[in-house]
Amino acid sequence: MGEQSLDKTFELIEKSEVALVRLCQDLIRFPTVNPPGNDYQACVEYIGNRLKNRGFTVEYIRAYGAPGDCADYPRYNVVARYETGRQGPCVHFNSHIDVVETGDGWTKDPFAAELIDGKIYGRGACDMKGGLAASIIAVEALIESGIELKGAIEISGTADEESGGLGGVAYLAEKGYFSKDRVDHVIIPEPLNVDRVCLGHRGVWWAEIETHGRIAHGSMPFLGDCAVRHMGAVMTEFEDKLYPAMAARYTSMPVVPEGAKQSTLNINSIHGGQEEGNEGLPAPCVPDSCRMIIDRRFLVEEQLDDVKGEVREILATLAKTRDGFKYEIRDMLEVIPSMTDENAPVVRATAKAIEEILGKKPDLICSPGTYDQKHIDRIGNLQDCIAYGPGILELAHQPDEYVVVEDMINSAKVMASAAYKLLMGEVD
Ligand SMILES: [Zn+2]
Repeated sequence: MGEQSLDKTFELIEKSEVALVRLCQDLIRFPTVNPPGNDYQACVEYIGNRLKNRGFTVEYIRAYGAPGDCADYPRYNVVARYETGRQGPCVHFNSHIDVVETGDGWTKDPFAAELIDGKIYGRGACDMKGGLAASIIAVEALIESGIELKGAIEISGTADEESGGLGGVAYLAEKGYFSKDRVDHVIIPEPLNVDRVCLGHRGVWWAEIETHGRIAHGSMPFLGDCAVRHMGAVMTEFEDKLYPAMAARYTSMPVVPEGAKQSTLNINSIHGGQEEGNEGLPAPCVPDSCRMIIDRRFLVEEQLDDVKGEVREILATLAKTRDGFKYEIRDMLEVIPSMTDENAPVVRATAKAIEEILGKKPDLICSPGTYDQKHIDRIGNLQDCIAYGPGILELAHQPDEYVVVEDMINSAKVMASAAYKLLMGEVD
């Protein structure tokens, strides 16, 4: 069987436009905002019911004990599997169902999912319910077309990606849902644009640094020790040493946008001294504590130990050289970079499909931020994983987020074609 055999599938996808829009709208209308993790159960049951009617075996998996899991906000996931009845690999489409808070600045109702001029608006339209809807339509068309497929296809809708994925993909990976005997290739329809293939993401280290001082009367600061000034010394070292050192490092990872090809450090917050009272009157004291949260994004060429060591060394040196400098540092989050080989089957199959359908060679990119690939890679030990979906990267988490219907149609064709090539072993 060659390309010819997918004509029927593509025709079915085009004819499904109304159904695709409806499906995407239905998904957006579940306000699955995380935190707190709202409406997950209703959303996964909607997905599960639909796929059950199309011959999938459906499992609902609650991540008991995961962060945030409770009676009011249970962490529900759905995994649906379709067996073709013939020997072959398994292609898995994974989408997270949670969305971030709406925030200000919307001109549309974030949960009405209005269709205006070929775009569907709403929180999660781009990131990533548009991608989830497209993958479902893609797989349904592939099955309905009557092509003799091999192996199995899975679709999952998972919890908590926006808060680290512990109650979602990490939980499923720990339970073996991404193990070798079950899944071979994974496509995550995150919003990385319809004509690009995302191989992976940079690493993350979040930490809290606290400097200590000694409280005293604000009129006699020489009798105390100012924790905020100690933090100022830390920041001076960052400016003089750390930032220039990071700026000198470039990655071979094809990270977008350009600025993210380097190591980056965001200072998320600084809290020092006592708060102003209700009347806005300042506290007349020398601060005895100052806390800073740092968000360090690192490259595949860097080791987490070195990344931490660089900051720890600055602090240790200050403790030796600066009078009264006392500090603590606490790790908050660690994510190792993940990057799938550009010759991996899922990359080649998807790149080829994009070329066939959109008539252009796709850019192979990496994401500046992380997504659930880390858990599939590290816990599931499955390295044939990419992100590919219809959403526009820059619109994620923004007000008036939308997904373009034509992009959903095109990405559905790409996903169907990529899945077909992988299932049939037609990856060249
Ligand atoms: Zn996302």
